[in-house]
Amino acid sequence: MQTITTPGELLERAIAGGRISLEEGIHLYQTATTKELKQAADAIRQKRHPEGVVTYLVDRNINYSNVCIVDCGFCAFYRKPASSEAYLLTNEQIGEKMAELRAWGGSRVLLQGGVNPYLKIDYYEGLLRYLKEHFPEIEIDSFSPVEVWNIARIMKMPLDQVLHRLHEAGMDGLPGGGAEILDNRTRNRIAPHKGTWESWIEAERLAQREGMTTSATMVFGFDEDLEERVLHLTRLRDLQDESLAYNGNGFTSFIVWSYQPENTAMGGSRASGAEYLRMVSFARIMLDNVENISASWPSQGADLAREALHCGANDFGSTMMEENVVSAAGADVGTCMTVEQIQAEIREAGFRPAERNSRYKILKQLD
Ligand code: SF4
Repeated sequence: MQTITTPGELLERAIAGGRISLEEGIHLYQTATTKELKQAADAIRQKRHPEGVVTYLVDRNINYSNVCIVDCGFCAFYRKPASSEAYLLTNEQIGEKMAELRAWGGSRVLLQGGVNPYLKIDYYEGLLRYLKEHFPEIEIDSFSPVEVWNIARIMKMPLDQVLHRLHEAGMDGLPGGGAEILDNRTRNRIAPHKGTWESWIEAERLAQREGMTTSATMVFGFDEDLEERVLHLTRLRDLQDESLAYNGNGFTSFIVWSYQPENTAMGGSRASGAEYLRMVSFARIMLDNVENISASWPSQGADLAREALHCGANDFGSTMMEENVVSAAGADVGTCMTVEQIQAEIREAGFRPAERNSRYKILKQLD
């Protein structure tokens, strides 16, 4: 075990590019003031992104289905297969939404659903091929670890083969949704059927080896303990080290938001804005091998998202156009922002906006 030093020494080390261990991270979160964490995170962001630019993505969310059998206690989005409110969009209905995205100049679609016990891999391959044929210029980031594990289970096929087939059919990236807290103590309590933290990491590892775009997420505020929060970050960091060494294809970014309790079976309360900003800052300090940290306006609102840009975040997220998961759980901050609104928010925070694609390549730099 490394010697615990003072918060000031740990933050100095982090700003210099050094690594903070699990034990040191716990100690740091317990002892550093929010102001100290924010200043250090901002200094790290300035070193990594000195040009004063904040990026954003023009995309849309499409929830192709709300059918799910996993019953996560914190989810207000899903419906059981027999529910009268259950739906599965046709390829043509999804195509109509894609046409709107194209008209808007979007470069990425985020396709998300639930754990459907009836769909085999040919359904997903068919959808991906249809979208690639009609919208070849739009990157497809689709599904999540629990969804692809479900396909592997239904098909009795190894997960790397599932990902390879989906990749071949047109899937460009596996988003990191469903990470919640990457520790089984909290997962067993809030979503016992959703899979272990190891299964989430394994899906992302295999997607990275397959060459797909991946991003990391975290949802906090489930009454998890501090060690679990820090473990979440160190487990992401460990995979990032491994994947960067393996083929250079790690997580493009990290985003954190707080649990939204409204309309969920689990209920409870929402973490404060101050705690959200503390978590953003802390993540920037701990994730020394992740280039980009995103602010989350759909869950936290524009004011906090702007503030997050001074707590280590260098990305304002995406336009989304349509969001049904966080909004179902009561995030009443609006589920769509126009490109102009996002640009205005970034400027108001004191940065120059730049449009990026899913892989964080800059597409358009604005003044
Ligand atoms: S969070 Fe995902 S896996 Fe859990 S119930 Fe909702 S849709 Fe299903």
